[in-house]
Parts: sequence; C-alpha cells; structure tokens
Amino acid sequence: MQHPMDLSGKVAVVTGGNGGIGLGITKGLASAGCHVAIWARNAAKNEAAVQALQGLPGNVQAFACDVTDRASVDAAAAATLQRFGFIDGMFANAGIGGGGRESFLVRKPEDWGQMIDVNLYGAFHACQVALAQMKTQSEQGRKHGRIVLTSSIASHFGTAANEHYAMTKAGLTSLARSIAVEFARYGVTANALLPGYTATEMTTGLFDNEKFVKAVMPRIPQRRFGSSDDFAGVAIYLMSDLSSYHTGDAMTIDGGYSIY
Ligand code: NDP
Repeated sequence: MQHPMDLSGKVAVVTGGNGGIGLGITKGLASAGCHVAIWARNAAKNEAAVQALQGLPGNVQAFACDVTDRASVDAAAAATLQRFGFIDGMFANAGIGGGGRESFLVRKPEDWGQMIDVNLYGAFHACQVALAQMKTQSEQGRKHGRIVLTSSIASHFGTAANEHYAMTKAGLTSLARSIAVEFARYGVTANALLPGYTATEMTTGLFDNEKFVKAVMPRIPQRRFGSSDDFAGVAIYLMSDLSSYHTGDAMTIDGGYSIY
C-alpha cells in the first residue's frame, strides 16, 4: 500500500522554484516522489536547481517562465503538460520583496505597479492556467488539485515603509480563500503559506544588518531564522491526500514569531 505522504504519480509546479523557499518546496516534493516543474526566469539558476535535485524519487524539470507575462506562463504550462501530462499542484511562490524602505509619502506608483505585477498578477496567471487544467482533470476523474500561495507574515502586520509588499501578500491570503470556495467542487484545496523571516537571496541584505538581527531575533521563540528546508514538510503535506479537508487556511511557518 502506498504511504499517504508518497507523492508518486503527482505533478506540481513551483514558480520561483529555482532558489530560496521555492527550492525548499521543490526539494521536499521531489523527495516524496512528486514530479516538479520549476517555472522561473534565470536559466543558470534553473539549470543549477535541476542538477542539484537529480537522483530524488520525483523528476525535476525547469521551464523558463516570467510569471508577469501571460504568454510565457501559457508556454510553460504547455511544456509542463507535454513533459508530465498533468498539473495537480500549483505552488505560486515567485515574488519580489520591498527593497528600499522609503516612506509611503515618497512611494512612486511605478513601485506599486512592479510589486502588484509580480506578486499578484504573477499568482493570477499561474493560478488561472493551473485551475483550468485542474478543472479539466477533475471532470476526467482526476479529482485532486492543490493551490498553495506563498504569502507572508507581513500580511498580518502593518509594515512601515514596506506597505506595497505587505498589501500584495494580504491579497494572496485572501485569494487562497476565494479559490478554496469556488473550486472545492473540483477536488481543489487552496491555502496560503505565510513564511516568517527566512534566509534566502531576498533577505541577504537584511540578515547582514547587525542592528536588524539584534532587534528581531529575540522576537523569534525558536531563536533562528527560517531556512528553505523548513518548507519541505508543509509542501509534502499540502500536496498529499492527507490534506484533502484542509482548505482556505493561512498557514504560518515562522518559528513562532507571530504569536510572541
Ligand atoms: P528569492 O529571491 O530567493 O526567490 C524568489 C524566486 O522568485 C526566484 O526563484 C526567482 O527566480 C523567482 N521570480 C522572481 N520574479 C519572477 C518572475 N517575474 N517570474 C518568475 N519567477 C520569478 O526569495 P524567497 O525565496 O525569499 O521568496 C519566495 C517567496 O516567499 C516570495 O513570494 C516572498 O515574498 C515570500 N516570502 C519570503 C520571506 C523571506 O523571509 N525570505 C518571508 C515571507 C514571504 P528568477 O529570478 O530566476 O525568475
């Protein structure tokens, strides 16, 4: 009998799966036997991720994709379906951070535009193509779809001078709930993942800042920043049949930061 956490035969897409949290998700899924399609832009990073994850039970392939560009997303979906035949899971994880910490008073509309373009429209395109495919698969008897949106604990809190990032992340948490309601009939669950401070390329500058580390670390009960590997277990669980009644949730993975 197949172990319920054995994901053999399932296929997931991880946008931004070539680095950071996305790579942790990809590695976790592939280690449990899931085939994974990485959708991201940087060819060298895509290739390095595929090389690094060779030999795991699930096959990992990377497809060049800019999630802000619908034609690019459609092409990645077609290539994924040609390679693996199905899309059972969409981990819409690609995102950009706030960068500089300018006051809202000097924020430019273009800054908002770029943030919304990647963090919200990126998820919009990825989820729309995945859900259309999941609906078709469900009508053909393959009634198992998973949407996982990488939000952030920033969606819980007010963040001075980084409001544009936080607001897109709150939007993703909300989107997960709406998808959960509309697509439940097709066997699709949808949840948001809310990482806390996690060591990745996005946070390198921040974590190198001694003043920041001194201020934040005492507020994390586990007294460490997260690592990309901390997202493997939750990804496996959400992709598995065990999570089939778990939907519309905002799942916090932050070492206890937001309860302290
Ligand atoms: P990284 O910067 O390490 O990774 C971002 C990933 O997104 C890369 O794989 C990048 O690949 C991809 N990406 C960015 N823009 C696009 C695009 N237009 N099209 C396709 N892929 C794109 O960041 P993290 O791993 O830290 O972040 C992953 C997610 O986690 C983000 O949504 C972030 O907001 C969220 N998060 C991170 C936290 C942290 O502390 N690190 C905390 C809370 C949430 P490429 O450049 O090759 O396209």
